[in-house]
Amino acid sequence: AEIPTAAISRLVTYLRILEQLEAQDISRTSSSDLAERAGVSAFQVRKDLAYFGRFGTRGMGYTVPILKRELVRVLGLNQTWNVVIVGMGRLGQAIANYPGASDYQFQYVGLFDVSPAIVGRQVRNLTVQHMDDLRAFTSHNRVDMGFLAVPPDRAQDAAQMLVDAGVRGILNFAPVVIQPPVEATVQQEISDEWRGVIIENVDFLAGMKRLAFYILNPHLKDAPMT
Ligand code: NAD
Repeated sequence: AEIPTAAISRLVTYLRILEQLEAQDISRTSSSDLAERAGVSAFQVRKDLAYFGRFGTRGMGYTVPILKRELVRVLGLNQTWNVVIVGMGRLGQAIANYPGASDYQFQYVGLFDVSPAIVGRQVRNLTVQHMDDLRAFTSHNRVDMGFLAVPPDRAQDAAQMLVDAGVRGILNFAPVVIQPPVEATVQQEISDEWRGVIIENVDFLAGMKRLAFYILNPHLKDAPMT
């Protein structure tokens, strides 16, 4: 069965709350406590968690470290994720320099750009490489994710290069929709290399637009924004 994207977003929120509880040495919680902290209903919390199993004891709530460990496992955060950043301009450099990713096992293994002014630069412990070398790089290094931080009109081509290089997941920061190219066959099939590729979009301007709407129309808000 499919699981709503919003439920996965909430799992990430519950995990953040569990980390905060752990930091405060709080060892037990409940669906109503998590619900209150996440701004959702207790029913919602139980429903979201039930997609993945039974984590608590009826009437006893949850043990914080155990539920946290389970959510880490469900989200796949107990394994290493090798990430390349494509586009090392303002945003790409900011992402590469942000330390938060290493709280979990996300590690930047390659940084790529096309600009002669940027290729060859040192950013943290890595040297920015040219996009022409992406394919050779991925044939020698496992790469699980690509972060796309190129200008909007370059995003589709750069995404294609990531997919051609075998990268299965793309976090796209460019404000454009990345489309799998449709083959000119009768079936209009998605080409093989794009099958199973997951694209996640990060669009803070979209957040600003939602915010503007909800500031003007607060009574239309269903649940806290996450
Ligand atoms: P930028 O112009 O500073 O950097 C873009 C980089 O991409 C440049 O270094 C350029 O050489 C490189 N590039 C161009 N074509 C490429 C290709 N084919 N392969 C690899 N690299 C290539 O832009 P920015 O401000 O860092 O923004 C990057 C993207 O993120 C844009 O799509 C922008 O709309 C989006 N974005 C930026 C911000 C921000 O705060 N800067 C916030 C949200 C979204």
